[in-house]
Amino acid sequence: MSNQNGRYGSHGGQYIPETLMNAVTELEHAYEHYKNDTEFQHELEALYHDYAARPSRLTYAARMTQDLGGAKIYLKREDLNHTGSHKINNVIGQCLLAKKMGKTRIIAETGAGQHGVAAATVAALMGMECEVFMGEEDTRRQALNVYRMRLLGAKVHPVATGTATLKDAVSEALREWTKRIDDTHYLIGSVMGPHPFPMIVRDFQAVISREIRSQMMEKEGRLPDVVMACVGGGSNAMGAFYDFIGEKNVRLIGCEAAGRGVHTAETAATIATGKPGIFHGMKSYFCQDAYGQIAPVYSISAGLDYPGIGPEHAMLYDAKRAEYVAVTDDEAVEAFEYLSRTEGIIPAIESAHAVAHAIKIAPSMSKDKIIVINISGRGDKDCAAIARYRGEDIYE
Ligand SMILES: *Cc1c(COP(=O)(O)O)cnc(C)c1O
Repeated sequence: MSNQNGRYGSHGGQYIPETLMNAVTELEHAYEHYKNDTEFQHELEALYHDYAARPSRLTYAARMTQDLGGAKIYLKREDLNHTGSHKINNVIGQCLLAKKMGKTRIIAETGAGQHGVAAATVAALMGMECEVFMGEEDTRRQALNVYRMRLLGAKVHPVATGTATLKDAVSEALREWTKRIDDTHYLIGSVMGPHPFPMIVRDFQAVISREIRSQMMEKEGRLPDVVMACVGGGSNAMGAFYDFIGEKNVRLIGCEAAGRGVHTAETAATIATGKPGIFHGMKSYFCQDAYGQIAPVYSISAGLDYPGIGPEHAMLYDAKRAEYVAVTDDEAVEAFEYLSRTEGIIPAIESAHAVAHAIKIAPSMSKDKIIVINISGRGDKDCAAIARYRGEDIYE
């Protein structure tokens, strides 16, 4: 599907102040050049392989398949990447691009801290300055990740505006970029923001679906019937879907965070509860109040706790090419525990949202069908919070 002028159907675009126009245009031109540059692509591949530990494995979930008694289940293991999630794919790509553009400083937003840690990691690797904007509330909830970022040499700026969470961190990073664009690249963490970011992040994450395709051909001699992934901004899902968009027999399912339920105010399910709007430089679906203001969102999973969804997902939804379902905190926590004891894999609580939906649909599918679940990250970071959810207090 095309993204002419950064449009995805009626979504996407560049809704930004004049002061940022030069920066995004410079980025667009640089990316158009380097994406076809063989040296750039070779460097990128070498970093994916030698530093991030790609290709990530495709693991057959034998016990889960047997237990559910229906479709055959495979897990795409982004949890095995360096820093423990898919975020590194995008960060390596954008840092390499920024370096080629002569930038010496990276700024980034982060919610739970996963993207901030990945950004600080690759900035250290490449000898770049790194500053991370993080909601003040999140710096308290994720103190360990704040320490990690500092250990890696990054500066962390707590953001006290608004609800002091992820959306405010994105706003602050955009403001900071406006102030200093000459030496600074804004390393956005998901398939969102103004064009060309949704395209760039998707392209760097698309390595996930290219690998799934070749690994499936090798293991099963055919493509999967279903590919599913959790959706916050939507980068791991876009990466897992992208190479299959033209394959009409591959069902694509995005799993949003319903939080305490889509009929409560404590939800982050954008497709289920949102309306079209414009925010953070893009047109897409957003959770809004009765006055069209961005609504506060909630999920047990900090990585899915964003009031919008990337514009290409909005288009895939409108076109009915992908389905979007909502998964509650309760269901995700059960899936977190289920995958741990059934396969010996502790998934990120974000990824557990996709596992939960697979648990729902696999039993009624026939045994010759194949589901691939993208395990976007590992769950070590979530153990303390899930223990607390279950009424246990463990030392963090
Ligand atoms: C950040 C994160 C997500 C959510 O971001 P997307 O852009 O929707 O992929 C999901 N899983 C993990 C492990 C994350 O760190």
